[in-house]
Amino acid sequence: MDIHEYQAKELLRDFGVQIPQGGLAYSPEQAVYRAKEIGGERWVVKAQVHAGGRGKAGGIRVCGDDKEIWQAAEELFGKRLVTHQTGAQGKIIHRLYIEAATDIDKELYFGLVLDRTSERVMVVASAEGGMEIEEIARLKPQSILRVAVEPAVGMQGFEAREIAFGLGLPATLVSQAVTTFLGTYRAFRDLDATMVEINPLVVTKGGRLLALDCKMSFDDNALFRRSHIAELRDKSQEDPREMQAHDRGLSYVGLDGNIGCIINGAGLAMATMDMIKHADGEPANFMDIGGGASPERVAKAFRLVLSDSKVEAVLVNIFAGINRCDWVAQGIVQALEKLECKAPLVVRLAGTNVAEGRQILAGSGLPIIAADTLKEAADKVVAAWRQSTGK
Ligand code: ADP
Ligand code: MG
Repeated sequence: MDIHEYQAKELLRDFGVQIPQGGLAYSPEQAVYRAKEIGGERWVVKAQVHAGGRGKAGGIRVCGDDKEIWQAAEELFGKRLVTHQTGAQGKIIHRLYIEAATDIDKELYFGLVLDRTSERVMVVASAEGGMEIEEIARLKPQSILRVAVEPAVGMQGFEAREIAFGLGLPATLVSQAVTTFLGTYRAFRDLDATMVEINPLVVTKGGRLLALDCKMSFDDNALFRRSHIAELRDKSQEDPREMQAHDRGLSYVGLDGNIGCIINGAGLAMATMDMIKHADGEPANFMDIGGGASPERVAKAFRLVLSDSKVEAVLVNIFAGINRCDWVAQGIVQALEKLECKAPLVVRLAGTNVAEGRQILAGSGLPIIAADTLKEAADKVVAAWRQSTGK
């Protein structure tokens, strides 16, 4: 789960990381009021969306007076901000964060990620902040410091000092840097984060170290024990298809193609994606209905897949071990009795009660294309899609 910049900053502040003064606004009027509360002469109006690259996309505006703040806020509210991380449809702006503009001397990068290979929390830092880490890696790879933290003891003071010196920070800033690095590490660990990225971490002209932008992601499987994090979820920022599936207990990943897939088990789902690609098709989603899918669950999955306007053909691929093919078949028939499905539908059933399952489908009178093997199913769904769309 991702959260907004202002939420990440509030969390980090509780761990001793310094941030500029700021406040949240839901209207232009409130934005102006926030700036008054903050005081000073220059402010930054920042669109809160779950994506980076907002600056380049016009989502970060520096303002010098009330009128500019009002104008920036009015332009941004309700707009879909398209950055290189959002995809073409962009992300809707419902919240703005108004922040005191900082006089920046230097922009750094400081991030923590879970490195699965070394099974460690990995510190990634660079003196070349402001740009994306991918860009830093491409343009200034030698500037990147990496330190794997020993999990038994956590990040140590000497490690934080080494990173500070490695970033070329002057001695006067080292103690602030150590507080920032250790605090960020504790936040990562104590809140079950999978990623924390402060970019930029800035040295101000006044000699302070401030987190100017922050992104945080959390382990979904740990949210049950972090209720104060779980409640930060902003559904308006998520793929509506994935959100609906999540709320119905289905695993769903939206993709860009046009073949909707209903599959039980992640392994089979991945193999099916590969086979569709192999047959020159493009999956519209990755939907795993799980092991013990009831007819109701299959029907829910159908409703969700068919509600995606991009779906022009559907493949159901079930290998029933714990599951039963006759249940799945009942679910398909139930769903299609209630829903209008103009898209061609290919069903491949294998495993427990396969004969009964096929009988239910054949006896339903529905225009279902049956397939025996995975390859046949993938070939048939791509062929049926081509035929029905003429693509
Ligand atoms: P994003 O990474 O989504 O583009 P940032 O919050 O990193 O958004 O903002 C982009 C750039 O805008 C920063 O690199 C920084 O130069 C500038 N900026 C952001 N917040 C402030 C601030 N409070 N004061 C001054 N400049 C800022
Ligand atoms: Mg940034």
